[in-house]
Amino acid sequence: MQVQLPDESAHVAFGETLGRLFQGRGRLYLHGDLGAGKTTLTRGVLRAYGYEGAVKSPTYTLVEPYALDGKRVYHLDLYRLGDPEELEFIGGRDVFADDALCVVEWPSRGAGWLPPADVDLTLDVAGAGRRARLESATVRGEALLAELADARGLDDDAAGFRGDV
Ligand code: ADP
Ligand code: MG
Repeated sequence: MQVQLPDESAHVAFGETLGRLFQGRGRLYLHGDLGAGKTTLTRGVLRAYGYEGAVKSPTYTLVEPYALDGKRVYHLDLYRLGDPEELEFIGGRDVFADDALCVVEWPSRGAGWLPPADVDLTLDVAGAGRRARLESATVRGEALLAELADARGLDDDAAGFRGDV
């Protein structure tokens, strides 16, 4: 599935739609270069759980936990991870065992250690905006993308984003 995100507000709105869809559990991995919009998308995801504050990539701490609305969301940024095994030392096992939503920037740095994503989302610059490509890697991810495609068909304008399924 591909979605065009012409500006930042569409980008955040799309993140919020995705955040609602995941219902506080699962794994959303965000691929794309520096500046592609991974943290901006995470801001939208967190907004789905009522968080309106600033979101900074946890580049040095690697993981930022949020307890929101009875749900837990972990935001990881693995850009500075030296070795996937380091995820053991930062409590990665507990993070991924938790009944929570894990949003991971730079999942490629943790390849081999990280469990598979439900949804892998790749962001690219497209003109002044961005393009998101979504792929599922689990049965739940597949169901989530099918639900997203349906919601998009019914609610295109209200969701604030456009795309081609
Ligand atoms: P990343 O986390 O991938 O490094 P950021 O989320 O920090 O990237 O975004 C980098 C910049 O891109 C920010 O200034 C943000 O405002 C801008 N941006 C994000 N999404 C879009 C979009 N869809 N269209 C235009 N600019 C965007
Ligand atoms: Mg970032």
